[in-house]
Amino acid sequence: MNLHEYQGKDILSSFGVRIQRGIVAKNANEAVAAAKQLTTETGTSWHVIKAQVHAGGRGKGGGVKLAKNLKEVEEIAGNIIGMQLVTPQTSAEGKKVHQVLVAEDVYYPGASETSEFYVSVLLNRSTGRNMIMYSTEGGMDIETVAEETPHLIFTEEIDPSVGILPFQARRVAFNLGLEGNAFKEMTKFITNLYTAYDKSDSSLFEINPVLKTSDDKIIAVDAKVTIDDNALYRHKDYLDLRDLREENAIEVEAGALGLNYVDLDGNVGCMVNGAGLAMATMDLIKQAGGEPANFLDVGGTADAARVEAAFRIILKDPGVKAILINIFGGIVRCDRVAQGVIDAYKNMGNIKVPIIVRLQGTNADIAKQLLDDSGLDVLSATEFQEAADKVQAVLA
Ligand code: GDP
Ligand code: MN
Repeated sequence: MNLHEYQGKDILSSFGVRIQRGIVAKNANEAVAAAKQLTTETGTSWHVIKAQVHAGGRGKGGGVKLAKNLKEVEEIAGNIIGMQLVTPQTSAEGKKVHQVLVAEDVYYPGASETSEFYVSVLLNRSTGRNMIMYSTEGGMDIETVAEETPHLIFTEEIDPSVGILPFQARRVAFNLGLEGNAFKEMTKFITNLYTAYDKSDSSLFEINPVLKTSDDKIIAVDAKVTIDDNALYRHKDYLDLRDLREENAIEVEAGALGLNYVDLDGNVGCMVNGAGLAMATMDLIKQAGGEPANFLDVGGTADAARVEAAFRIILKDPGVKAILINIFGGIVRCDRVAQGVIDAYKNMGNIKVPIIVRLQGTNADIAKQLLDDSGLDVLSATEFQEAADKVQAVLA
């Protein structure tokens, strides 16, 4: 589950990580009220208005702007709320902005220069450990840094059963070139950030930039947080943080029906049981000259109700020109799946795209007979290649 910047910052703050303070607003009036309140609380007279969407690179897309007075706060917030924000991380149509974070300006001038760093905590799957990844090149796209100047990215591996040790936090601060109070602040920042990541059962905490202010404070200016869904049962309070508007509508609906569905851009919808077979089926579609419109694993019990639910989900995608059903009858018998397909097809009544069904396994021959005798516009196949050929034929 991904969080908004302001939600991620709330979690950070609750673990003692210093953050750029801010208040969420849903319209220009709320933004002005938020700015006034921030001025009272922090003394800031400048504010940054930040679009809250689940995508990075908002600054580049015009979703992060500095306001130097309340009139500008009102104007900028009014412009950003409701816009379709396009960033390097969104699709071409962008994401609709429903709310902004009105935040204190933390880039104020002072005794020393400000500097920006990159810090993230994530799971290193190959070592089975958590990892702090950090760089002096903050505020930049980390993929670009990795490509062009990989020597400027450092890592610190943390044994999850031991947790972060003081010398590790000091090593991070040292490698970032900090001294004096900023050094001390950074060790505290890193330690609390790691604790926040660990205790919230997250799989990613990415802070880009981490700012050293002109008075040597260390502050999280941005926060990208992904909570591990498998651990959400331990954090019932986080469930409220989910913003379904940020997720693919068809995927949300499929999830509620217990289907593993991932929306893709192609023209052939697929309905498969088992993730491995689903991957192989997507390859098959590509070989046949098509493009998969989705990944869909209906799971072990491919009965009529599930098949029908899957049909409905697949057909919500207007790009679908054909559907390939590829099911292996191991636990579930093929004739039952075939009957399910026939029942669902008749029940839906309005399926206009050709359907290719490949059933293999227990009672595959009976299943093929059922489909062939059904009188429906369904092409049956028993072999993988045969199914591919039929997909190719209907797309031609
Ligand atoms: P992102 O573009 O989605 O990664 O959003 P960020 O939260 O990282 O903000 C983008 C950029 O806005 C940052 O890299 C900063 O350079 C700038 N920015 C953020 N907060 C402030 C602020 O308080 N004052 C000023 N002047 N710039 C800010
Ligand atoms: Mn950022």
